[in-house]
Amino acid sequence: METEIIKDTLVGKEAKRESQFIYAAPYVISKWDVRFMEFTDLTVAQWSKDRSSRVGAVIVKDREIVTTGFNGLPRGCNDDNEARHERPEKYSWFIHAEPNAIINAARQGKSTLGCDM
Ligand SMILES: [Zn+2]
Repeated sequence: METEIIKDTLVGKEAKRESQFIYAAPYVISKWDVRFMEFTDLTVAQWSKDRSSRVGAVIVKDREIVTTGFNGLPRGCNDDNEARHERPEKYSWFIHAEPNAIINAARQGKSTLGCDM
């Protein structure tokens, strides 16, 4: 078990080289962190309909994805309404990816206790 953890852990420059999305050196980043960050940036964030910035969030536990979120209007709000995309109006409508992920977990009755985001 100990050996597996060491083998799966990337540190500093190695982690940075492993993924263009990880700039967190000198923090210890596991290969699973890298995988989830890549999934977040390359997939989940791309689901956002925000025209200026697309952000994703993934909540994970024990190497499994609990839920996802991205910045955008709350579920059920019409995003075809142009006014809701204009500043400063959009600030009243758009929710960050992180709280959206937590809301999605709650909606499904999933606990985020002990999870990583
Ligand atoms: Zn945010």
